[in-house]
Amino acid sequence: MTPGNLPGRMAAVVLEAPNRIVNEDRLLPEAGPGEVIVKVRACALCGTDIHAWRGLFAGVRLPVVLGHEFAGEVVALGEGTEGVPLGLRCCVENLITCGECEFCGTSRPNLCTSLESIGNTLDGAYAEYVSVPAECVVPLPGKVSYDVGSVMQTLATAYHAVRDVGGVRRGERVAIQGAGPIGLCALAVAKAEGAYVAISDTVGYRLQAAEKMGADAAVNPAEAGFPERLGQLTGGAGFDKVIEAVGGAQEATLPEACRIVKRNGTVVVMGVFAGEGTPIPAEEVRRLEIVIKGARGRYAGQFAECLELVASGKIDLAPMLTHRVPLSRAVEGLEMMEEKQDGAIKVILEPAGSSED
Ligand SMILES: [Zn+2]
Ligand SMILES: [Zn+2]
Repeated sequence: MTPGNLPGRMAAVVLEAPNRIVNEDRLLPEAGPGEVIVKVRACALCGTDIHAWRGLFAGVRLPVVLGHEFAGEVVALGEGTEGVPLGLRCCVENLITCGECEFCGTSRPNLCTSLESIGNTLDGAYAEYVSVPAECVVPLPGKVSYDVGSVMQTLATAYHAVRDVGGVRRGERVAIQGAGPIGLCALAVAKAEGAYVAISDTVGYRLQAAEKMGADAAVNPAEAGFPERLGQLTGGAGFDKVIEAVGGAQEATLPEACRIVKRNGTVVVMGVFAGEGTPIPAEEVRRLEIVIKGARGRYAGQFAECLELVASGKIDLAPMLTHRVPLSRAVEGLEMMEEKQDGAIKVILEPAGSSED
């Protein structure tokens, strides 16, 4: 390990166009002023990577090396980053804010009007090395593995949705729609807050993971009697909070959320919706004074708070980390998640020679 830039070439996986991902051999990235080079040790595949690959996510600038959820080791320092220790085990906040707009100035950097995103608008971590701003580096506590560190982005996004946007409190009844990675993280946060949590998904193995992660009820909306069963869970009153964690091109979940939330309850939209015209039942929203709120990204410092939750054992993400695949097989990993094959929930991409010590 030497300060400055590293010579050589590396493997990288590039999204060139919708439905076209290619494995490339390219020069190592350079650490510009204020940047460091991270040797990627684990990069989690994400639902938005699948959406970007399928041309359903507008937040990418192509061509781009995908990969926005990752952890690794600092191996080279650009000018002005001498405070970062070489060899630091870290995960990386992928959102880069302008620091100047109204929202950056009022502690809501997730709403920055000139947001850049490593792995979406800038080259990410489906690669052996990635260059990142030094201020995006968050140290991993000793007990936290690279795999767990790589999913802090998912956990921190759920943490913001459940706590800051949903305002979930001890004793509240919370329903989460979707037991994919983001729904399972929302479950973990809501349980850590002391809420009663019911979660729904049409995939049986995901419901089993939810039960392992502490769900009080895990129900399948495709089964007969689903609405009645949910109604019984709240004695007919409805849930205090409903968190939508499905998104995509479907139209069922928001109307359902408005049916199961209680009067003047809150629906939090966290799923990333694709397509146009997702229906919102306006008359129910009016009549029952339902509050619908969006949740996007997270606030500064929330990676560290989430790392503390996993390091202290308050949250255990192990049941959702189901697979590891080598970097060269990124497309297979994406397919596995897209088609929900083989029990896949979160698939971790592993550059060659990067398994945990
Ligand atoms: Zn993600
Ligand atoms: Zn800004």
